[in-house]
Amino acid sequence: MFENINIVLVNTSHPGNIGSVARAMGVMGFNKLSLVNPKEFPSSHADALSVGCKNILDHANVYNSLSNALEKNMITVGFSARDRKVPLPSMSLDDLATYIKSNNSYTYNIVFGNERTGLTNDDLHQCDYLVNIETHSTTSSLNLSAAVQLFTYQLFLTNNIKKKPNTSVKDLATSKERDYYYSELISILKDTGFVNDKNYKSLLKKIHIIFNKAMLEKDEINILHGMLASIRKKLIVD
Ligand code: SAH
Repeated sequence: MFENINIVLVNTSHPGNIGSVARAMGVMGFNKLSLVNPKEFPSSHADALSVGCKNILDHANVYNSLSNALEKNMITVGFSARDRKVPLPSMSLDDLATYIKSNNSYTYNIVFGNERTGLTNDDLHQCDYLVNIETHSTTSSLNLSAAVQLFTYQLFLTNNIKKKPNTSVKDLATSKERDYYYSELISILKDTGFVNDKNYKSLLKKIHIIFNKAMLEKDEINILHGMLASIRKKLIVD
């Protein structure tokens, strides 16, 4: 089950938390774990807390950077305990579970941060969407494995609802297809003078955010490419 979900833990300090995450995954049918620069792994503390899910630890992949841990062509979702300055489109946990159920042929990186500092802005910039789990009080920070548990449980629950969700199944564009469109768009906007060396970086980020909000489907990306082609043609003629 849930072969299409890659749970990614970044800079985890406490090996016990890695074991608890393995357990939180295993009990709900998840098995793919990636670790980015864990402080201590493998570890007897992790093994002890994994209770019956040690096989997940045995098969976990360890990476030296988040970008290496992210499987390409996937949709990447960052989990954050607080509202972040990075203006990424955000989803509730429930929305995310419905989204994954409705687009089950896609694969997903689900990224969780360090116990004390969470995900850095650089980490978040590698994500397509952001999820903040609602909590009762202003102390919104859950234990790492509790956050993973809520995600795995919510997806497990949503997947087991017999009734089909109302959302129609969409053929979403992949990160690669979207990035290719953004690069084409930027290239035309450079030619028109809208994008220049000064505003390039911030505009690229904003374009990313604006279009990600639309959750573009493959045929919609094709229409946008068609629009660019017609603009390009006109630019050349003129
Ligand atoms: N002080 C850190 C908390 C880190 S808790 C911060 O403010 O970000 C460790 C990780 O658990 C977080 O990086 C996040 O991935 C996840 N997490 C904890 N509480 C969460 C919440 N309420 N919503 C979403 N993710 C949460």
